[in-house]
Amino acid sequence: MQVEKASGIYISYALDFGIILLSGILYYLSIHIIDVLGATPETVHQSRVLFWAGVVIFFVGVVLILWEWTIYTNAENEVKAVFSTCPLCSSSDTKATLSINKAEIECLDCGAQWMIQISGISGKLKTAKLVHPSKDSKGRELLNLEKPKEFWIKLAREGKSKTSSQETGVTHEVKSGGEDIEAKLQKLKELYEKGLLTEEEYKEQKRKLLEKL
Ligand SMILES: [Zn+2]
Repeated sequence: MQVEKASGIYISYALDFGIILLSGILYYLSIHIIDVLGATPETVHQSRVLFWAGVVIFFVGVVLILWEWTIYTNAENEVKAVFSTCPLCSSSDTKATLSINKAEIECLDCGAQWMIQISGISGKLKTAKLVHPSKDSKGRELLNLEKPKEFWIKLAREGKSKTSSQETGVTHEVKSGGEDIEAKLQKLKELYEKGLLTEEEYKEQKRKLLEKL
């Protein structure tokens, strides 16, 4: 998955650095105001005010940078966790463009696109909606529905265990689950027959699979 940051993110970092630069200017003025205007009780007072304003602004700038860095890092991790493979076609050729409070995801294979809402406070992924179905119309029934990240993770996981289906969504889940278990049972039986599993292991695994049905 490729992740890109939109220019808005760089601008917000630049503003934070601007704030830090401003604190430097205030500090500079606090030193030179006495040199330029002479040491009077008034200029000494002004110098102190400028100095402390500079200190406060400096820390505000640092906190903002760290906060924004945390938000964008969280957002990037969330996006990678959910969309590292396309929920519709399982391709890992996906691209994310992060902006402030949102992200756009595009599958470079099937052309599906998502718009994601990101918390501006924590950077956590709130909801994602499909804004463009795949080229072969997969996911059309999900178009423009805001869904939590768990929904898309689940869909991606199901997508990996199936190869061909035009359906997505709830009706599909049960079917895919059943087919999946059937394939696993088959595989398990093969392993047992080849002698790679003991009878005990075979029965145990089989029981676990059947519980999922
Ligand atoms: Zn795709």
